[in-house]
Amino acid sequence: MTDITIPTQPEALSRRQPAVVPQPAARPRVVIVGAGFGGLRAARALRKAPVDVVLLDRHNYHLFQPLLYQVATAGLEPEQIARPVRAILRGQTNFAFRMVEVTGVDFAAREVATDNGPVPYDYLVLALGGETNYFGLEGIMRSGFGLKGVSDALAIRNHVLGCFERAVLEPDGERRRALLTFVVVGGGPTGVEMAGALSELIRLVLVKDYPRLNIKDVRVLLLEATDRLLAPMPERLREAAAETLWRKHVEVRFGAAVEDCDGARVRLKGGEVIPAHTLIWAAGAKAVALTAKLGLPTARQGRVAVTPTLQVPDHPEVYVIGDAAYLEAGGEPLPMMAPVALQMAQAAARNISRRLRGEPPLAFQYRDPGSLATIGRNAAVAYIHGIGVKGFVAWVTWLIVHIIQLIGFRNKLFVLINWAWDYFFYERAARLITKE
Ligand SMILES: Cc1cc2nc3c(=O)[nH]c(=O)nc-3n(C[C@H](O)[C@H](O)[C@H](O)COP(=O)(O)OP(=O)(O)OC[C@H]3O[C@@H](n4cnc5c(N)ncnc54)[C@H](O)[C@@H]3O)c2cc1C
Repeated sequence: MTDITIPTQPEALSRRQPAVVPQPAARPRVVIVGAGFGGLRAARALRKAPVDVVLLDRHNYHLFQPLLYQVATAGLEPEQIARPVRAILRGQTNFAFRMVEVTGVDFAAREVATDNGPVPYDYLVLALGGETNYFGLEGIMRSGFGLKGVSDALAIRNHVLGCFERAVLEPDGERRRALLTFVVVGGGPTGVEMAGALSELIRLVLVKDYPRLNIKDVRVLLLEATDRLLAPMPERLREAAAETLWRKHVEVRFGAAVEDCDGARVRLKGGEVIPAHTLIWAAGAKAVALTAKLGLPTARQGRVAVTPTLQVPDHPEVYVIGDAAYLEAGGEPLPMMAPVALQMAQAAARNISRRLRGEPPLAFQYRDPGSLATIGRNAAVAYIHGIGVKGFVAWVTWLIVHIIQLIGFRNKLFVLINWAWDYFFYERAARLITKE
């Protein structure tokens, strides 16, 4: 009898085969810090790249900051201008999200430090954004209101509505007028939009809620340290914005630099004191404090100075984009605005893909889509590709642009319904005082 042994594998092959089946080579990991305009766009732009994308943020949502002032003035609820990151990027297979606080970066070890341990990276995109710049004015930091996140907007809403409730109960005329005096500081788009919306909330809506209060006791002031509003716009539009604000009962004052406030009084440089319980600070922005602690070269506003390809000098695997990045175009720093963050995100994602293919990175080129500012009902100014528009046409343009940019069909729909309701019925739905 012949013993026939049938080998399960040819000998030569079995000798070559290791005991453990090899895993496919791990793909490079791109860690993105910040799920704002820049970070979210970068994650999306890498959806087809041969990488794993890990997005880190301290919040589980993406916030549409340009409409925050409407939350502060009771026009919209926070969930109408924010959306969970996991829902936005649910369909992206190379994507993971972690809700963590980023506390630093170890560039040598290629690890992001977080409150939940280190996160290693092959490529890093820092899209940390900005924060309110109080220029070291401690009284304003303590007693004024900034407008950067959802909690700021709700704090303003609660405080303004609370001032009206307290004013109704206040027998002393002077104290009542101080409760009903609202000071907005900063004549940029946020200050202009905030002052216009606040005045309309009071004159069109709250006046009906508080019939026993004398509307003549109410003041909304917009204080600007220079001699102009909306500085980058042409003179004709700047003047139109100021005129419209006056028509909407906002007292616009130029050359008025605020120095201090204590929750009952606002003090200007030069000594003038305005009795006012509310100061909303829209006079400055800077990169988040973390950028200064990373050990990277920073420039104006604490922003990280990046190369034209958006990389960090000496760390070509690290990109900084959006408000946190400092880059000049035509001798001027790129503004801390959403289109800059979005376009930089696209460029950084493209440069990462190019590096993976062994191609050199391309320099970032900013295309300015123009600027818009609304001044309440039926009024706005727009400056797009050298063409200036004001009034109703600019206002409709503003509405369309903002609805298109909002993320999520549900948010678009609810915001549209809200705006239509407020427009036709002179209402503001979100007038609850949820905390004082
Ligand atoms: C009130 C307001 C109104 C504005 N209006 C306009 C406008 O009308 N038009 C316009 O173009 N621009 C406007 N801007 C500016 C615009 O919102 C910013 O330029 C844009 O958001 C910058 O995008 P970004 O990705 O750099 O940062 P952001 O969008 O600010 O995102 C940064 C993200 O990083 C996260 N983050 C920060 N630090 C940490 C940390 N340590 N750990 C974890 N996560 C962290 C934050 O939670 C945030 O999600 C406005 C800004 C504000 C505040």
